[in-house]
Amino acid sequence: MRIGVYGGSFNPPHTGHVLAAAELIEKLSLDRLLIVPAADPPHKSLALGSPGPYDRLALCTTAFFRVPKARVCDLELRREGKSYTVDTLAELTEANPGDEFFLVMGTDMFLSFPTWREPERIAALAALAVVHRGESAGIWNRVLEEAEALRERMRARIVTVDNECVPISSTMVRRMLAFGAPDCLDPAVLELIRQNGWYLTGDQLKQLPYEALREVSLALHDEKRRAHADGTAETAFALAERWGADPETARRAGILHDITKALTEAEQLRLCREYGMSPTEFQYENPKLLHAVTGAAVAERIFGESEDVVSAIRWHTTGRAEMSLLEKILYIADYMEPNRDFPGVELLRELVWQDLDAAIFRGLEQSVRHVRAKGCVLDPDSEKAWHYYQKLTERSIEP
Ligand code: FE
Ligand code: FE
Repeated sequence: MRIGVYGGSFNPPHTGHVLAAAELIEKLSLDRLLIVPAADPPHKSLALGSPGPYDRLALCTTAFFRVPKARVCDLELRREGKSYTVDTLAELTEANPGDEFFLVMGTDMFLSFPTWREPERIAALAALAVVHRGESAGIWNRVLEEAEALRERMRARIVTVDNECVPISSTMVRRMLAFGAPDCLDPAVLELIRQNGWYLTGDQLKQLPYEALREVSLALHDEKRRAHADGTAETAFALAERWGADPETARRAGILHDITKALTEAEQLRLCREYGMSPTEFQYENPKLLHAVTGAAVAERIFGESEDVVSAIRWHTTGRAEMSLLEKILYIADYMEPNRDFPGVELLRELVWQDLDAAIFRGLEQSVRHVRAKGCVLDPDSEKAWHYYQKLTERSIEP
């Protein structure tokens, strides 16, 4: 028998995994494909809201149910302590003498293969099946070079498989689950997730205390945007104290303002559809603006935030004429929080303590210049805001 071994955290198992499994079975002419969910990594915790290992196993059983030759296998969960691929393969080959094994791995795993525990022994126990998921030619060439080197050095048998499926990441699937617009999941898997409230589904994100709100918010952000979210929250808090808004509310708006920024354009539009909102033509053409619209909707529907917070998030990117105090605070906090660095930011940071409207105008003017320099069309709301705050401040500001 030809047996494939497909490991991963499957957190959660999505249609990308299922399509890949079917494709692997076909392309490697497998008689069986073992789906091997990984035990919880000992030192790093899984994403917030993730179910435990046996629940992920149950999700896998449901997800791969329709792939005839796939079998979900609890080998890595049963083992005590840290689980190594080499042990899994040793156990499998011992139990199935005479069968031929194929260890499935992505390009990133393959490129780090020599650093795994006992790579030579792994290579002796199984052929390595490297899956190409549309990586760049540069990376793929490195894979081919490394494959040549490993064939020579440890007589590894290496096959490559082109995976024609659209790449789907579990991170993205988890985000869309939390935002109440799940995608790329088998309906039975989705039902199991919802019944148990895994992956932050259900009503559990409504009106969280600030520390919990921050934890969830940062978990849903891209790594690179976490410092900006925190910086904006703390700046908004301080500005609210200075200008007489509620600091707690300002901080909530700050930590949530870019909550949907990590979504792709397609996912932004999917959220709009799911929530029954239609983006304007201008937003369609400038999808970067969509995160303010979807972010406000998520703050309202998923986090149950107040109207103040929702409108501040709605207008944080473009601004508008006659902004509320909280809208102004969030707009400018986003612009000048400590992680921002552009010519003039220091001046803006000083000005904002003396004259909030003047700072708003400076911010708007800078954005207008920036947009025009790029040869882009100015957002109509920004344009109105710019004129409005220009008029409001022209008495107190030198041109
Ligand atoms: Fe933003
Ligand atoms: Fe921002």
